[in-house]
Amino acid sequence: MDSYCVLLTQGSVTFPANFMLVGAMNPCPCGYYGDPFRQCTCPLSLVSRYQKRISGPFIDRVDIFVEVPHIDYEKLTDDRLGEKSDKVQTRVEAARSVQRARFQGTKLAANAEMTPTEVREFCQVEESAQSLLKAAMKQLYLSARAFHRILKLARTIADLDGATNIEPSHLAEAVQYRPRGFA
Ligand SMILES: [Zn+2]
Repeated sequence: MDSYCVLLTQGSVTFPANFMLVGAMNPCPCGYYGDPFRQCTCPLSLVSRYQKRISGPFIDRVDIFVEVPHIDYEKLTDDRLGEKSDKVQTRVEAARSVQRARFQGTKLAANAEMTPTEVREFCQVEESAQSLLKAAMKQLYLSARAFHRILKLARTIADLDGATNIEPSHLAEAVQYRPRGFA
């Protein structure tokens, strides 16, 4: 998002803005809906009402949804560490550099900034991934906006993987970041 428009009673004002929004929410008022270890005590109608407080058009504009399950004691006390940050940084910098080269001569700097025109140009999916995309569109009842978000995300996952083409695995990963399982 590179501009933020405020509608006033007498006209509108557009401010420059470029931000990343990161948010978290509980699945239900008690917090245990879908938890494998504790029973949610909320009536289903309440869970549904609670989740609908985040509007569809808002959800449509979010790129990545990740469910964060309950973490048990063994995992919290496990001494094994995840991937080191400097390794991740190298991968991200390489993907950023691919994107700078891709958008050379344009005003764009990253995949997230692509409009549908650039998505058509740079996010062609391999033939073998076409049917997956078609099935996801139908099953998740995706809007045109969500469709473009999936393709942009798949392009970024492919860049992080050092791949020239968007392969089925990149697309499948992007699809699984759409929200599902809402009550
Ligand atoms: Zn609950």
